[in-house]
Amino acid sequence: MNRIERLVILGGGTAGWMTATALAKAFGPRLTIELLESEAIGTVGVGEATIPTIHWFNALIGLDEAEFVRATKATFKLGIEFVDWARPGDRYFHPFGRHGVELDAVPFHQHWLKARSDGFDRPLSAFSLATQLAAANRFARPADDPRSILSTLGYAYHFDASLYAQHLRGLAEAAGVRRREGRVNQVERAPDTGFVMALTIDRGERIEGDLFVDCSGFRALLIDGVMEAGFEDWSHWLPCDRAVAVPCTRVAETTPYTRSTLRPAGWQWRIPLQHRMGNGYVYASAFLSDDEAAATLLGGLDGEALGEPRLLRFRAGFRRETWRKNVVAIGLSSGFLEPLESTSIHLIQSGIAKLITLFPDRDCDPGLARQFNTLFGRDMDGIRDFLILHYHATHGHEAPLWRQARRMALPESLIDREAQYRRAGRLMLTSDELFREASWLAVLEGQGVRAEGCSPLADTLDPAANRRQLEQIEAVIARAAPTLPKHDDAIAAMIGGIAPVPG
Ligand SMILES: Cc1cc2nc3c(=O)[nH]c(=O)nc-3n(C[C@H](O)[C@H](O)[C@H](O)COP(=O)(O)OP(=O)(O)OC[C@H]3O[C@@H](n4cnc5c(N)ncnc54)[C@H](O)[C@@H]3O)c2cc1C
Repeated sequence: MNRIERLVILGGGTAGWMTATALAKAFGPRLTIELLESEAIGTVGVGEATIPTIHWFNALIGLDEAEFVRATKATFKLGIEFVDWARPGDRYFHPFGRHGVELDAVPFHQHWLKARSDGFDRPLSAFSLATQLAAANRFARPADDPRSILSTLGYAYHFDASLYAQHLRGLAEAAGVRRREGRVNQVERAPDTGFVMALTIDRGERIEGDLFVDCSGFRALLIDGVMEAGFEDWSHWLPCDRAVAVPCTRVAETTPYTRSTLRPAGWQWRIPLQHRMGNGYVYASAFLSDDEAAATLLGGLDGEALGEPRLLRFRAGFRRETWRKNVVAIGLSSGFLEPLESTSIHLIQSGIAKLITLFPDRDCDPGLARQFNTLFGRDMDGIRDFLILHYHATHGHEAPLWRQARRMALPESLIDREAQYRRAGRLMLTSDELFREASWLAVLEGQGVRAEGCSPLADTLDPAANRRQLEQIEAVIARAAPTLPKHDDAIAAMIGGIAPVPG
């Protein structure tokens, strides 16, 4: 009798429709789900690059990959190319998947560090098939067979955010989710418990619920406006607070990676889709005006701009209490860390997974909320450190933003991670962190944080035998890469064709 029967989702952006689809799938007809959204308010509509955890979500909702790639004009993503980050003129790649192969009890990267300290000079990128494929504009999906070098790959997607939300809406409505159009202008709360009881929209309709998921975006109408859950501001570590975004025409083959290029007041993204290129300049408004940002963006596009640049404002940080009483915030309402490593859609999924696991009864046991908030806080702390590393470890950029970022006081956790890596190449990760060894390794080394030694275990390796093993792995990768399909051909093979490059 105490089971939750009516769930109300406020918001129909990516977060709202992902939540609706997943909960409809997980609970079936036992749960009545209503989603309210306002076309007049609209959605953020950016958010086009993902990370490999997206496969978990797509599997949960039973999404057919080819159908999804076709419907959202998606391309594949093997990682991110960072241009000019470590220093002007530099390029490095943060690949998905693994470096090297599993050899013995010594982690692969320790084999490489040991060899380097013995005089071996091959770069880390030579041991990543994803990096080699990206450089050659090729793509392959990972193989299950651990003996195949293809098993070291990982991938995600770039997709059109509005087409993705539309696609999910179709699935959610087919699964019984009821959509209501209108702007919420009144929230009723129970006088004794403070629980939200009903939302009223501008046409006068009243929607009652037992549990409310706040997917209202940066407005955070319920979690902030009603529940007054505080906001932990991280803008002293992540100073970018605005973005201008504009798509442009596609002028060349699509690339299987996102590109991030450092700019004087922030950085610029380039995200290839089948039908267009997504572009944006993320910047700190303390150092650049909106007009200058738009002009820089428009001046550096590959193709013709498709519309006017759109301005987005945000603040880095999150709510330590993203679940309070019977309101759970998912998506931008729960917080935002800038899109440098494409983590927001992952955080939506992760919020949905936690909500399904901890799904409460009507009394909303505060112990469940506490657990949800603790786990979410850990996710955010780990991602925060990883992002700060990119800002902090740069060299040779003299613009005020970058000078400030190099000098900023770091979180203790990041100081410790950097120190352990410098000393013996140790990657200090906990078991539930999002970014794993391959990511930290690529970005630490890519940004010029060099390990000075290796672990005591790696010191037991015979230098000549170790070097031979590494040379063999490099050769296997170098042989495999040119045999794999071009990226556009891989997309075409999956969906039966991709539009040719115009002209
Ligand atoms: C510059 C930028 C770049 C980004 N790039 C990436 C990326 O590459 N990868 C990634 O994973 N993420 C990215 N993100 C994040 C991503 O865009 C969001 O996580 C995602 O779009 C989810 O947004 P949302 O659904 O929480 O909010 P929104 O899209 O803002 O949706 C909010 C919804 O709430 C509704 N609403 C609000 N108030 C009311 C009201 N009073 N009554 C009724 N309805 C209401 C709106 O109508 C809308 O439907 C980026 C974000 C920004 C700002």
